[in-house]
Amino acid sequence: MSHKNFKSIEKTVFGRGSFSQLHEILAEKRHLNNGNMVFIVDAFFKDKPLAQQLPVQATDLVYFIDVDPHEPTTEQIDQLRDEILSTSGLPAGLIGIGGGSIMDIAKATALMLTNEGSSVQYQGLNLIKKPGVYHVGIPTISGTGAECSMTAVLTGPEKKLGLKCEWTIFDQVILDSELTASVPVDKWFYTGMDTFIHCIESRDGILNNAYSMAYGEQSLKLCREIYLGEQAGQSPENDDKLMVASLMGGLSLTYSEVGVCHALSYGLSKIFGEKHCYANCLAFQHLSDFYPDGVEEFKRMLAKHNIILPTGLSKNWSDEEITAMAHVAYNLHHMWNHAIGTNWKEKIDIRFIESLFRRM
Ligand code: NAD
Ligand code: ZN
Repeated sequence: MSHKNFKSIEKTVFGRGSFSQLHEILAEKRHLNNGNMVFIVDAFFKDKPLAQQLPVQATDLVYFIDVDPHEPTTEQIDQLRDEILSTSGLPAGLIGIGGGSIMDIAKATALMLTNEGSSVQYQGLNLIKKPGVYHVGIPTISGTGAECSMTAVLTGPEKKLGLKCEWTIFDQVILDSELTASVPVDKWFYTGMDTFIHCIESRDGILNNAYSMAYGEQSLKLCREIYLGEQAGQSPENDDKLMVASLMGGLSLTYSEVGVCHALSYGLSKIFGEKHCYANCLAFQHLSDFYPDGVEEFKRMLAKHNIILPTGLSKNWSDEEITAMAHVAYNLHHMWNHAIGTNWKEKIDIRFIESLFRRM
């Protein structure tokens, strides 16, 4: 068996207010290519003070992107790449400022600036031919671990699948939890639960190991303090903790794997366009036969923060839609292998996965 040889983020700054260091960090890279920087920023910040604090120079490009209509698509990345190249050529670097969606847009665009054709042809493992441009990730909502993962998840015409390779990893990450203070409570909950679920799924499967467990256990400890502890809730201290929990949850699953909940979540996203973190929550509440203690804790977290998830959704889904979701989920073989075991195909079939969707 060969073991994963995982590349990490090149450089990381952690600390409240560290966003102000972006200027000096970029200054060292402005000799590259045409010397311009491209800022890709969540549209939430368009009329916020942060938009005035971007270290933008005259010929830099700034894009504010609304991530709410849909998760990042291959078409969107191709268009953005074409627009950047036709406006000013190959930039020195690219900076993503936002949530998991913006992290993925930034990673994918940085790669596609130097790789020809459509991003559709690079969805998968190690298909990218050339390193992208220098890229920086600055998360503004914590939980997905997209800041440290080696994948940029895109929805294409055929599949929802990442551009996955070593060059996807950010060269630089700035973890400034002051940027997450404005996150509304529902999004704080759903995106934070992505971390919690990453850790439970990473732990409860055959690929767990001392390395993934060490990160996962520390991340779970932080999640419990943030969502169940005496000081639970949004606060500067908990915002710091959640930013670290997100990173560690991401590192845990990188060296292990996600499981049943993520497989189902991908089905919900692909067929109904549900957002990743919310889709995870919709599925996870019904998975106590796979993750008994994880689901029990999750339900206490829901109650503590007065989050009410809809149930009875499947009544409005057609048989065709449920079958289509089950196929999307089934095809994530690596997740079932981890969660159920190497003989998972003897235990799980499309009909069974359909029955999991019918619980929702
Ligand atoms: P997101 O980026 O879609 O943002 C969620 C919402 O929060 C948006 O409405 C956004 O405008 C808002 N927001 C972000 N920062 C804010 C702030 N500081 N204040 C107020 N509002 C703010 O959400 P997400 O949950 O972080 O990411 C989900 C995406 O991440 C999905 O597309 C999923 O596929 C992807 N993902 C990628 C990986 C990976 O490893 N690459 C892992 C998990 C998820
Ligand atoms: Zn996730």
